[in-house]
Amino acid sequence: MRPKRFRDTTRIGPVHVASFYDRRGRDKHTAACTAPRCGFSAEYDSRAAAELAARTHTCNP
Ligand SMILES: [Zn+2]
Repeated sequence: MRPKRFRDTTRIGPVHVASFYDRRGRDKHTAACTAPRCGFSAEYDSRAAAELAARTHTCNP
């Protein structure tokens, strides 16, 4: 995945959280786990939701 226009990137455990504007200019937020074989990645409408998901994420075994 090649980041584009990501801003405010932060790392919570193995999960990266970043904010970006989608093609319609809306504020969107993404959380993506960097652990091998996890593959968790999701988008949220609020930064708080993305950070909460990152904090509560546990990798699948
Ligand atoms: Zn994970």
